[in-house]
Amino acid sequence: MSELNLILLGPPGAGKGTQASRLTEDFGLPYIGTGDLLREHVDEGTDLGRQAKEHMEGGGLVPDDLVIAMILDKVDEEGDDGFLLDGFPRTVVQADALAEELEKRDRRLTAALLIHAPDEVVIRRLSGRRQCSEGHLYHVNFDPPKHEGKCDQCGKPLHQRSDDEPEKVKKRLATYHEKTEPLIDYYEDRGLLRRFDGTQDKVKVHDHIRATLATLRLEERL
Ligand SMILES: [Zn+2]
Repeated sequence: MSELNLILLGPPGAGKGTQASRLTEDFGLPYIGTGDLLREHVDEGTDLGRQAKEHMEGGGLVPDDLVIAMILDKVDEEGDDGFLLDGFPRTVVQADALAEELEKRDRRLTAALLIHAPDEVVIRRLSGRRQCSEGHLYHVNFDPPKHEGKCDQCGKPLHQRSDDEPEKVKKRLATYHEKTEPLIDYYEDRGLLRRFDGTQDKVKVHDHIRATLATLRLEERL
């Protein structure tokens, strides 16, 4: 067995999305982003999607067991190719539930990849981000457009996503510290945690993760 069953951990703005798309290419891993998965189910009007929609329309959160059911559907669909799970679990309770469900399928996590970045780095990165309605991305300091407030590629005006406003970023970080950070110890205790420095250059982070995964895969084969 050389399947890699992975989860991604880390604060918003640490570069999880960038790393995820590169890793899925390098290792042929099915990517399971829980946000996208939820939207797909709702859009396609599946049974799980309809149940999730009821909760969202009622102003509540989608219950964990619904999200886990969607994830496991996808895991089963992908077979033994492994997976890279992003956006779940976000709490210790969710982590326990996921482990239990995987065990029922005679599977387990291979590793939890933590991409760490301190709050001040996250705030600087996210609050400087700008995008146009076509989704082209810029950063006011690190990757500014040629003309302020205007997209180089399509000429449309640039705006800040409401999620990236400093107050919202601080709130997202507070939630991360309170609910998700305990997962670092949780996976460390189980010998599954692998740490990466998200303040480094993307290419460097990627190389480091790739080397770690290659080693993990070798270990799985032995
Ligand atoms: Zn554009």
